[in-house]
Amino acid sequence: MENIAFIGLGNMGGPMAVNLLNKGFKVDAFDLSPEALSKVAAAGGRAASSATDAAKDAGVVISMLPAGKHVASLYLGDEGLFAKLPKGTLIIDCSTIDAGTARQVAEAAQARGLSMLDAPVSGGTAGAAAGTLTFIVGGAADDLSRARPVLEAMGKNIFHAGGAGAGQTAKICNNMLLGILMAGTAEALALGVKNGLDPKVLSEIISKSSGRNWATELYNPWPGVMENAPASRNYAGGFMSELMLKDLGLAEETALQSHAANPLGALARNLYEEHVHQGHGKLDFSSIVKYFHTVN
Ligand code: NAD
Repeated sequence: MENIAFIGLGNMGGPMAVNLLNKGFKVDAFDLSPEALSKVAAAGGRAASSATDAAKDAGVVISMLPAGKHVASLYLGDEGLFAKLPKGTLIIDCSTIDAGTARQVAEAAQARGLSMLDAPVSGGTAGAAAGTLTFIVGGAADDLSRARPVLEAMGKNIFHAGGAGAGQTAKICNNMLLGILMAGTAEALALGVKNGLDPKVLSEIISKSSGRNWATELYNPWPGVMENAPASRNYAGGFMSELMLKDLGLAEETALQSHAANPLGALARNLYEEHVHQGHGKLDFSSIVKYFHTVN
């Protein structure tokens, strides 16, 4: 079993690192937030003093950071980890970032004799805690084979999307659709409630009808409809609206660069832009339902 350095222990990375520990991996962990670090230390991880310290005995380095700029600054440059890791180290970046940065980082890794996979995840914080994430991987097949036992300790489905950056492209397509469907679900529920329907009854009807989707089945945005959904705990935890806005922006940039039409993705991005501007950036993205309260 390879020693693992885990960098970025937030809503997703924290429970993922704990699952590795529970499956018997040795985890040296680092996060800028002492609070996030202490949770993983309490589960048996070593609290490292820096990313370099975390990686000093690692065969595999995993990162789970907010955006591309955090990933680039962790790995690249004279002070970056790549300058310090021994040849042969496998790096698995699970953050959702733009495919261009993912490819740039993968090329820099290759130039130093390191192996790199982009492996963004789907499944949310519940999937991270339960160890049932879906990994969407870009990179070389050999590197994925080596990563498999590590990924299997944190997830259930592992897809090889293609070469470096392909995992990010697939993930961004998925999340653009997620943003669209969450906004659409919120709009439909708000319309029903405004016209006298019980949100629970309407959600049950939609879940058994042609409008059913991931939100109505597992992540209902209306407070009180689903006990375990962020909506029923004031939208705390989960997947922050500002991160959804980031992903919708990545989808838009990808569409611009490839001259693809994404009118619904662009609309969803504008809704989330407004939502975040109204101060809801730290709330789970299902809080987009508040937007429909404001306009109704
Ligand atoms: P988060 O903000 O909860 O966690 C990010 C963590 O990274 C924070 O604890 C922060 O302190 C730490 N960090 C930032 N820069 C650092 C650095 N240089 N060194 C060490 N630690 C650093 O975010 P999250 O919800 O865990 O999301 C992480 C990534 O996963 C994002 O790219 C997000 O888009 C993606 N994602 C999130 C979800 C979700 O449901 N939350 C689902 C799928 C994918």
